[in-house]
Amino acid sequence: MDSDAIVIGAGVIGLTTAVVLAESGSRVRVRTAEEPRQTTSAVAGALWWPYRIEPEDRTAGWSLRTLEVLTGLADHPEETGVRMVTGTMAGSETAGLGEWAAAVPGLRSAVPEELPAGQDQGLRATLPLVDMPTHLDYLRRRLTAAGGVVEERGPLRPGSWQDLAESSGAVLNCSGLGSRQLVPDPAVRPVRGQLVVVENPGVREWLVAADPRSSETLYLFPQPYGLVLGGTAGEDDWELAPDPATAEAILDRCARVRPDLRGAKVLAHRVGLRPSRVGGVRLEQERLPGGGLGVHNYGHGGAGVTVAWGCAEEAAGLAAAG
Ligand SMILES: Cc1cc2nc3c(=O)[nH]c(=O)nc-3n(C[C@H](O)[C@H](O)[C@H](O)COP(=O)(O)OP(=O)(O)OC[C@H]3O[C@@H](n4cnc5c(N)ncnc54)[C@H](O)[C@@H]3O)c2cc1C
Repeated sequence: MDSDAIVIGAGVIGLTTAVVLAESGSRVRVRTAEEPRQTTSAVAGALWWPYRIEPEDRTAGWSLRTLEVLTGLADHPEETGVRMVTGTMAGSETAGLGEWAAAVPGLRSAVPEELPAGQDQGLRATLPLVDMPTHLDYLRRRLTAAGGVVEERGPLRPGSWQDLAESSGAVLNCSGLGSRQLVPDPAVRPVRGQLVVVENPGVREWLVAADPRSSETLYLFPQPYGLVLGGTAGEDDWELAPDPATAEAILDRCARVRPDLRGAKVLAHRVGLRPSRVGGVRLEQERLPGGGLGVHNYGHGGAGVTVAWGCAEEAAGLAAAG
């Protein structure tokens, strides 16, 4: 055996899982089709918030554990990409959330002057906002420092992931949307998200709001690389090219709540396919035909960044339990 664990996938789920394993003493190899900055994870906004993820009972614990870890990483934002930023979740109230909401430090109802025009309720909180390209670089450095390696060797063929068990103690499948073909698991489906990054005219807080004129949400996330504007959620939409009309609609929605965004210089258009799964996240062991151990950790939908550390620790625990 040339490693104790092989992790498939170098998005936020795979890298975080690999870091937890390597820092607990395992020899870890990460096998990925794309380098970390080319993954869906690099596209994410990315705010800590359990959005479009199931099952609710398990997600709460994973989210709160991740909140704890990300809050610690925010002590070194330049290095980790994680910052604690205050903002407003317009259109939401704590009663509509799960029990986890009571455990989020400082989460409270917004007062009217903190809400955008047209909204009559909302929440205020200071939460981790993650600059994902920087965060993925950080996770990779941390993995390397703990002795782990990342191998970019193209996509594994459907079903072939189990063969990796011949050279490793455990195989951890963190391939996100790729699991649809790789496992194969037809319950895995894309939920397409399109974003526009613009030059920031001075927005310091994040804002998430339901747009009263459409079924879409809108959000503004101030990142060091620009202001991220969103968002869309297209179920079963595989299109990776940005749609100009969708970009215009996002800009228009955001400019209605922040008029100084009208005419803001566009820096980039981004599209990512959220790895959604009917039935929710799959995080469980599978005994492989040759006797090896598989651990699945995929299907994190719209909240992979929000649950990454909780899921990584549980997956590493399953791998260690054998
Ligand atoms: C527009 C948008 C905004 C988002 N905003 C947020 C947010 O604010 N907060 C939040 O928590 N989440 C957010 N998300 C969701 C989050 O990005 C995902 O849940 C998360 O990135 C999933 O991570 P992952 O590591 O499972 O998948 P990925 O990042 O897709 O990584 C999958 C990895 O598996 C590899 N792989 C796949 N198939 C194979 C194969 N056959 N062989 C070898 N390797 C393979 C890939 O190369 C890649 O390395 C957002 C997503 C989008 C699209």
